Amino acid sequence: MEREDLEFDRCVEAILHSGAKIVGLQFPAGLKTRAVDIARKLQQETDVPVMLSADPSFGACDVKQMPVDLIVHLGHAPIPDLHYKNVFFYDNPLPPPENLAFLDNALPLPGMNVGLLTTTQFRGWVPKVREYLEQKGYSVFVGKTGGRIAYEGQLLGCDYSVARAVENDVDCFLFVGSGDFHPLAVALMTPKPVVVADVEKGTARRLDEEKDRTIRQRHGAITTAQSAGTFGILVSTKLGQHRMELAQYLLSLAEKHDKLAQIFIMDLVSQDALDGYKIDAWVNTACPRVAIEDYLMFKKPILTPQEFEIVLGERQWKDYEMDEIKS
Ligand code: SF4
Repeated sequence: MEREDLEFDRCVEAILHSGAKIVGLQFPAGLKTRAVDIARKLQQETDVPVMLSADPSFGACDVKQMPVDLIVHLGHAPIPDLHYKNVFFYDNPLPPPENLAFLDNALPLPGMNVGLLTTTQFRGWVPKVREYLEQKGYSVFVGKTGGRIAYEGQLLGCDYSVARAVENDVDCFLFVGSGDFHPLAVALMTPKPVVVADVEKGTARRLDEEKDRTIRQRHGAITTAQSAGTFGILVSTKLGQHRMELAQYLLSLAEKHDKLAQIFIMDLVSQDALDGYKIDAWVNTACPRVAIEDYLMFKKPILTPQEFEIVLGERQWKDYEMDEIKS
């Protein structure tokens, strides 16, 4: 039986076992095109009505409240330290390919001790990639699970603990996956080289240029925010992004430095929601990716909490840290 069928059957079983009379389906934007088919199929197999959430979900931190008995959340692995109620994670990681020769594009790596990183989608590839690299003479280090991390070697945009755990043991990091954000975040937190083996393109690259560009951008955001008169501190209501204590701390720092600041509570942090407010710079306590990856979508500088500390003189630029959501 195909892996996808197995996961679907597990989902059907979970719905029937829960005794739910109505089910809500939540999915990331990338799976929109399949949502209606999946909903229909689940409905046929279980005889339970299925509703779709039209709001996209950006991670397992973002489980939508719906008027249903069970939520089926597609496309993300659960975050272990969050307490979910009546949620089934329909998570379908990709099986490793027969042939890993595309990894040769990343070789030779800049050092023989390698920290192996990936995302939840490719977590099943880790043992095979490790074996492949070890056959080529590399020593492979994989960070363990814990906190927000469900699988060994798994990066989240809000938790790079698997990289930090092995940083002192390795000469470089190899990220096997797709997209730049996760490995870029690691490159920003360590001086060690980060190489990306891109599973979609079958190519490899180092992230030195992206890292320099991002550092320049962050430096620019901090410099612009230094002349801001009023700051807006953003707090998300999403289950795994809600950091009110941090926002209160940042507010107290602003007061200490005689800066005007106001807390804003919202679901999704977006420019549309922030339009019209008389604010000179934003400080984001929601998903840490927003300030870095979506920076250009905002009309005013948007800072991480650590960058706000630099603006206020509470932290030195040399002590720059990526924002993470700690357990
Ligand atoms: S907080 Fe952001 S990076 Fe973390 S799981 Fe949620 S969407 Fe992903």
